[in-house]
Amino acid sequence: MKIFDAVVIGGGPAGMTAALYLLRAGVKVALCEKLSPGGQVLMTEVIDNYPGHPKGIKGYELADLFAAHLDNYQPERFNDEVREITPGPDGEYELLVGAERIKAKAVVICTGARYRRLGIPGEEKFLGKGVSFCALCDGNFFRDQTVAVIGGGNSALEESLYLARLVKKIYLIHRRDEFRGCKCYLDKCLINPKIQPVLSTVVNEIQGGTAGVTGLLLKDLKTGETRELPVDGVFVFVGFEPVGDFFPEGLERDKAGFVMTDGEMKTNLPGIFAAGDIRSKACRQVITAAGDGATAATAAYAYLEHLHV
Ligand code: NAP
Repeated sequence: MKIFDAVVIGGGPAGMTAALYLLRAGVKVALCEKLSPGGQVLMTEVIDNYPGHPKGIKGYELADLFAAHLDNYQPERFNDEVREITPGPDGEYELLVGAERIKAKAVVICTGARYRRLGIPGEEKFLGKGVSFCALCDGNFFRDQTVAVIGGGNSALEESLYLARLVKKIYLIHRRDEFRGCKCYLDKCLINPKIQPVLSTVVNEIQGGTAGVTGLLLKDLKTGETRELPVDGVFVFVGFEPVGDFFPEGLERDKAGFVMTDGEMKTNLPGIFAAGDIRSKACRQVITAAGDGATAATAAYAYLEHLHV
């Protein structure tokens, strides 16, 4: 069995930063990442709030830069899913990565979050046939067509702006009568002639046939009236849920399942740290994920020092 000082799980901005900091400190690190490095960043067209890039930077370009920086320090990579973390008798943790078992004294969990489902009829049935959670991946399929975007946060607003360059019309459907996303995105949405906000409205059902989505069944929360809205596609951006079902027993999480940490990214279990979107926190940005990664690595290094690695 391979033995490491620290295992970093997840290759997004948090994981790559944590691995970078640990490797620079001379720690023997394994990086487990089931897909390509980058995480959610890869699904973002342009990131225009990461300092140092005054003209914005494409998500995949920023991910490539993170990965190239990390490559200078050669972490041992496991391109597979972590399935289990179990504490050993000696205070180390054993991880099942794909079919392989590895061991480490410290674990930094950086598995991030994924878009939450609405849980309404038609959502699963038409997934990939008109229902999407990624404008960058699927927007092109709806060129010159009519789509709905559901949600009122930054994701819904930002993705609507991206889609507006491709599609004919967007119904931006939100359950409250005001959006929660930033004014900078909202202002752009409100002046875009292709984007029509539909407020105080929920989607009760996504309707369709063998060819895919044909429309939505909407309910106006102010009048109680229901109506059908014809659309060719629907993009759902109603928040995030944590990624991972391998968490060690006893790991403290919030009601939504995000991992609880202190300011140093320590969890309630010794030697287990969490960083980035998987943490229970309010602000989920590339810059905060990277900051979490650096903080977690610093705390993990101090923990390992304390154990006299
Ligand atoms: P979010 O901020 O949690 O917003 C989710 C939206 O979906 C809210 O408007 C919420 O309505 C609505 N919603 C939740 N459950 C719903 C349901 N069952 N039916 C209908 N609507 C529902 O999520 P997000 O927009 O994905 O953003 C997540 C985090 O990433 C935030 O911290 C955000 O700032 C960040 N982010 C930042 C950027 C950027 O800075 N460029 C871009 C994207 C995301 P209510 O408002 O009524 O709760």
